[in-house]
Amino acid sequence: MILAEERRQVVEYASELADLTPGRTGNLSVRDGRDGDAFAITPTGVPYDSFDASDVPVVGVDGEQRDGAMKPSSEVPMHASIYEREDVGAIVHTHSPWSTALAVAREELPPIHYMIVAVGKRVPVAEYAPYGTDELAANIVQAMDEADATASLIENHGLVVTAADLETALENTVHVESLARLYLQTRAAGLEPATLSDEQLETVLEQFESYGQ
Ligand code: 13P
Ligand code: ZN
Repeated sequence: MILAEERRQVVEYASELADLTPGRTGNLSVRDGRDGDAFAITPTGVPYDSFDASDVPVVGVDGEQRDGAMKPSSEVPMHASIYEREDVGAIVHTHSPWSTALAVAREELPPIHYMIVAVGKRVPVAEYAPYGTDELAANIVQAMDEADATASLIENHGLVVTAADLETALENTVHVESLARLYLQTRAAGLEPATLSDEQLETVLEQFESYGQ
């Protein structure tokens, strides 16, 4: 079976995706290495506990399906364009509620907390286009490039997060969702969220270089 390990990861982490996004919305993919020319992606329109590794579609960065019994996510253009242009190993897309609330307001997520540096100094909003289109894919890549971020909100749609591997992409999706919640809850309390300066964010980036065990 080609991309056996990547397909196994898609099955294993699909339940985490299910916890983050309503119903059958959202999708995730794992690339064949950080610069590989193919990726394993969730199948379209099925519950996240209803497929095994042989069902998981394998798609080239050219967008063509190479293997897998099921049809790939409708967002193949988004995943393929990101892999074509960015040096990343995994992508997670959700309609997680707090991030999507900001996306509906067409407002970006500013640096209101130091954890934002997991994905950049802000999370931009990509311009709306119909789901599954090349136009939406281009808007997302442009927004992430302009903001120098590894995540982007999508107007009236949701959130996309990229990372070196799937575990990190899922963890950073949880971070962005929790920051979007903090930001909106602070505003809902009638308070004005303050933002960190560029210098303060640079300091956190330096600290993160040696964070952990
Ligand atoms: P798929 O089920 O085709 O992945 O679509 C879900 C989605 O979120 C589209 O944007
Ligand atoms: Zn979506």
